[in-house]
Amino acid sequence: MSGIKAESNHQFLVNMSRNVSRGLINTAMSGYLCGQSAPYGFDRMLVDENAHKQRVRNGEKFAKPRSWRVKLVPSDDPVKVRTLQWLFETYATQDMGYRAMADVLNAKGIPGPRGGRWFDSTIRAILLNQNYVGTFTWGKRREGKYHRVSGTDILVRDGAEVSVSPRGKPNAIDNPREAWIVVENTHEALVDAATFGVVASKIERRSRKNSTGYRTHTKKNGDAYLFTGLLHCGQCGRVMHGATSTRRKDGKTYKYPRYICSTFTRGGINNETGCRHAPSRSRSNSASCGGNCETWTSNLTQQRPEC
Ligand SMILES: [Zn+2]
Repeated sequence: MSGIKAESNHQFLVNMSRNVSRGLINTAMSGYLCGQSAPYGFDRMLVDENAHKQRVRNGEKFAKPRSWRVKLVPSDDPVKVRTLQWLFETYATQDMGYRAMADVLNAKGIPGPRGGRWFDSTIRAILLNQNYVGTFTWGKRREGKYHRVSGTDILVRDGAEVSVSPRGKPNAIDNPREAWIVVENTHEALVDAATFGVVASKIERRSRKNSTGYRTHTKKNGDAYLFTGLLHCGQCGRVMHGATSTRRKDGKTYKYPRYICSTFTRGGINNETGCRHAPSRSRSNSASCGGNCETWTSNLTQQRPEC
């Protein structure tokens, strides 16, 4: 009896999920936002049936009636618009990376998109966001439990790819580019198409050259980096992540895993805690780490030395 009830509850949720997906697709196809916040440099403009407009800045609360539509408009904060355009122009015309640009903005005290500091990952995401040329994209990630959207099709999500977080939310994964909904000229551009194109190809060129980043232990990398998220930096106390280090010697390239402080990888040398964690190979063979575990983590040994 309870089995039948559970089954029909499940069916109800599946049907609701499909209807919600259909509604979202229709909204997205018309180039209207469905629940997202505005990318940095934009505000949301709510429009009702009588074309009455209401600007909503990120962080402001506004209970939107169902029938109202949401478009992106340039922010009314000139600092945000100028900063956004500075990022694109600088990356396109100068030899400055994400980290260096983040440092400039942090040094000037310009708040990041969420009010805090700028990080290289934030800047990279901005430079790749097509909303800045007036193109609306939707469905870059699959986040539903039951359905996924491919273009305008609603497909049943493969149960095997859905994992649920400890808080009971299905984990999102990236959708392939051809499955996105892309609508051009939905709102005013903040960056011209030529500059955006230069930036995009520069990012592509650079990312092919160096591909490092956080790694976690997976079957694919032979369960390396078992300590990701478990180790803490001896200097600032934050968690450490696995990353691949590349070294060239005698014409040969050596790659090996090591652990780096997350404060340091995200914020670089000018990070907010002042952590100067820099794994040093010369110190890594020292037998005693003096209580500072940076020594053995930078040596990637899986055996902890006596200390
Ligand atoms: Zn640290």
